[in-house]
Amino acid sequence: MASSNSSNNSDLVHFVLFPLMAAGHTIPMVDIAKLLSQAAPFVHVTILTTPHNATRLDNSLLSHPRIHLTLLQLSHAYQHMDHLPSFNHSLSFLSSLAHDLQPQALALCKALSPQPTCIISDICLPWTLHIASQIGVPWLSFNGGSCFGNVAMSKILGSGICETVGSDGEYFEVPGLEHRIEVSKAQLPVGFRSDGMMKFIKLIGEAERKAYGMVVNSFEELEGCYVRELKKMRGDRVWCIGPVSLCNKRYEDKAQRGSVTSKDSSNDQVMIWLDSQLPNSVLYVCLGSLHNLKTPQLIELGLGLEASKKAFVWVVRASNKLEKWIEEEGFEERMKGRGVIIRDWAPQLLILSHPAIGGFLTHCGWNSILEGVAAGLPMLTWPLFSDQFLNEKFVADVLNIGVKVGAQYPVMKMKEEGEEEEEEEGVVEVRKEDVKEGIERVMGEGEEAEERRKRAREVGVMANKALEDGCSSQLNIALFIDDILKPNDIST
Ligand code: UDP
Repeated sequence: MASSNSSNNSDLVHFVLFPLMAAGHTIPMVDIAKLLSQAAPFVHVTILTTPHNATRLDNSLLSHPRIHLTLLQLSHAYQHMDHLPSFNHSLSFLSSLAHDLQPQALALCKALSPQPTCIISDICLPWTLHIASQIGVPWLSFNGGSCFGNVAMSKILGSGICETVGSDGEYFEVPGLEHRIEVSKAQLPVGFRSDGMMKFIKLIGEAERKAYGMVVNSFEELEGCYVRELKKMRGDRVWCIGPVSLCNKRYEDKAQRGSVTSKDSSNDQVMIWLDSQLPNSVLYVCLGSLHNLKTPQLIELGLGLEASKKAFVWVVRASNKLEKWIEEEGFEERMKGRGVIIRDWAPQLLILSHPAIGGFLTHCGWNSILEGVAAGLPMLTWPLFSDQFLNEKFVADVLNIGVKVGAQYPVMKMKEEGEEEEEEEGVVEVRKEDVKEGIERVMGEGEEAEERRKRAREVGVMANKALEDGCSSQLNIALFIDDILKPNDIST
């Protein structure tokens, strides 16, 4: 096993990690780097990324003796997915990554010492597969999602069920799952809605078929039947090694994770405020790292928070229109003592692990879901796009620890060329009453809420256990390293 004291040079393992330049993709990849390097003294990790993305990596990483950072130059006008003016720019951004980075990355990988043992790549960078085959090492994919989501999408695609349903909004049951899950075409990841994205997803599918294996940010106790199913589909080489966020144990690691600035003192004030609140009394509201709800919908969310009469921490992204509303309406002033607004970037792990937090209003990004699970929290789910609707169903219909706020349609659909940007008006799908009712169900009294809280705590205990010595995710890390150390047939 990898936990033995092997430090023989021939046994050195060198993982090369390629994260995508987007917070929700880079953050878990950095955690994976930490987990792998912590597993054994003979493990080295190199993260290949751009200078701009490197500024989002926490300082502790840079001083780690066996985690190395190698920079690649990107010429694109935007350096980070999170900065794209609209989702429509993603394809051009992803193409320029392939164009600019592939030759540099190949040259660097050839020169790396110790020689790379394998490449773990974000699935949105399928071209890294060619680098792996050119230097003759296994290529593993990391797609940032759950086993449930991967299995559900395979079943949907494999069954051709989308061709049999009429309108985009019509619900159908996902065939062949252990649980009864209903979804609509509109709620499936964007690839179904744009030719360009469909082609890109095909490329990803080809790379995944050629992958040696797959690393997943999940743990076996959370979704055992879907882990087994995914292993059946992918020939067993699926390693669940999460929740990866749990590698951040120290206050500083949690405070700095993914942060744009190294340390923001306003965060301390939020933590001090939380210290003054009763246990389980505060709702944490964060809709992920991207800015995509329109202002009228955000205002409605704010009004719902106010109407709920519960204490909250609300993370808002820079938006002049929302700021104007907050100021003109005196919202922040009115909420003084009861609600705190964090602008731009919150230390999410710190906040979620604070005893005052009693619920999480989340956009259902998989990282956030797992972080909420690890914190033992019930959730109010508000999916926005991509795999988030499937994640919502997992939390609410499989784990039974979530309440759906009622979002039915994605807010960031992929537009066809020439299609107009959505107007700010008329985009309020979730009303303040829905928000208020959802908060009451998650944070309130009563048997249903108590039962949900109890289940959430139990899943949280399992999550934390998974990364203890001898438990499932720790074992999987060791098994993964052992597997990579063996002479491999990489032609799978
Ligand atoms: N995050 C954070 N502070 C914020 C917003 C997000 O620390 O203000 C982190 C969050 O903890 C998670 C990641 O950013 O690890 C977001 O990933 P997720 O999959 O939840 O959603 P995405 O932003 O990719 O849609």
